[in-house]
Amino acid sequence: MHGDCGGSMNEPCKDLPAIGGEHGVSAVFTKLADLIAFKEGSIRITRGYPRFVNHPYVDAFARVTVPGSEYRWAVSSVEAGRYLRDRFSQNLSIEIFERAGAAVLTVPDREQFALLYEDIRNTGFTLSSRRAKRLLCGVNDPEPDYLDRCVKKISSFEKGSRIEDTFLFSSGMGAIFAALCATFDEQRPGVCIIGNPYVDTIQLFSKFLTRKNFAPPSVVEGYEEFEMTTGDDTGIVFLEIPTNPLLRVADLEKIVHFARARDIRVIVDATIATPYNINPLQYGADIVMHSTTKFLNGHNDHLGGVLLVNPESPDMIGRKIKDFLALTGSGMDPEEGKVLFEHLAGFQSRMEKINNNALLVARYLSSHQAVDCVNYPFLDGHPDRHLAAKYLKGGSGVVSFSLRGSSFERASAFYDRCRIPGKGPSLGAEETLLCPITLLTYYKMDDAALEAMGLDRYLMRISVGTEDPYLIISQLEDGLLAVEDA
Ligand code: PLP
Repeated sequence: MHGDCGGSMNEPCKDLPAIGGEHGVSAVFTKLADLIAFKEGSIRITRGYPRFVNHPYVDAFARVTVPGSEYRWAVSSVEAGRYLRDRFSQNLSIEIFERAGAAVLTVPDREQFALLYEDIRNTGFTLSSRRAKRLLCGVNDPEPDYLDRCVKKISSFEKGSRIEDTFLFSSGMGAIFAALCATFDEQRPGVCIIGNPYVDTIQLFSKFLTRKNFAPPSVVEGYEEFEMTTGDDTGIVFLEIPTNPLLRVADLEKIVHFARARDIRVIVDATIATPYNINPLQYGADIVMHSTTKFLNGHNDHLGGVLLVNPESPDMIGRKIKDFLALTGSGMDPEEGKVLFEHLAGFQSRMEKINNNALLVARYLSSHQAVDCVNYPFLDGHPDRHLAAKYLKGGSGVVSFSLRGSSFERASAFYDRCRIPGKGPSLGAEETLLCPITLLTYYKMDDAALEAMGLDRYLMRISVGTEDPYLIISQLEDGLLAVEDA
């Protein structure tokens, strides 16, 4: 879930259905009112995105490990707990309770708990629900060779990468954190982010820098602003391709050319494009990152991340990533690797279908009178369509759109009547997912701040899946007809 954990320990618990089964990474919010209640904290949910919602197995593991505390959260390893206590969350009074290599962290009160929860979410040091289940049931780990097989397979998709420079993590955020730590240089602490990144990425970068008494990252719109604002102290440039949810595409070649000439490291989060549509290492990026939770796994039932380092970049990047993995114990769980490996088999055919379906859905939406504006890189009106045509084989599955006369009433009419079964916050699955992305991510943000980010409060995001595209369109149509009556 992309928001706060919702409710306190005392709020009523709502067991919403999960997409993706026992280890599903998304809850279903059938009505917009359910999502609002979650964001308002009047309900607490027990299933959802595992960095945001305490999975019942993870919660049970924490409970049996530290029965006496109300303010506890399990993390992937004792090392991760120590890293948070000693290096990242020093403002908190964390106690660490080890059990079978994993750990439960406790803090003394509710205020500190809210901060701890956010730090664990940002760093992605989450305990896998599969591992929690094994620990609770005393089941052995599966063969670790699934992790090696995932490394080989992902590296084969990502042109310009090498198996020995490919690293798996327990979450996408864990991978981003490792990339940041492996490229950060105290002599040149400036970090520039091109386009609005995923909410936890900006929070992680800001905390990492400000807690070391450096300025937070600067966020610029595109290449021109990057070139203008880059100073001698800039050491890292980070970008998502395309961005989420507005699907902006930056001029990667120019960015890399400019950065390389100044020895600035380039990190690309290509989670949305996927290695099927772009291979940033071939343009000279230093590191490409993917949240494997999304399109690479494609089934909404796994949490993980991967980094692939350019073999031509300085060797110390790979060495520092290995050190980070050893120091934080934030590598991927072998059972998560097994699930990922099984689903990587269908990755390429999945992406071919998703590219085609999403373009059809984006075109349908842009022709509908109830829709004001559609964001998809391969649509004629998109500001970066020429860059998309240059860099991307296909537009991938994410489409966002605003309703005409955008309002809460119209958004509810659309959302509640739309027949897409997967009304949930994640993206990148074979199953189409719909979510009111601004409400989910920036619920408390005021109008001026949203406008500055170019975000409509009721922006809808669809992650188009592999179903029959005309079925998806007919499910959307029911919602759009309801908007006209609202
Ligand atoms: N990068 C992007 C573009 C994302 O959308 C997300 C999650 O939604 C992440 C990174 C973080 O990945 P994970 O949730 O696997 O930690």
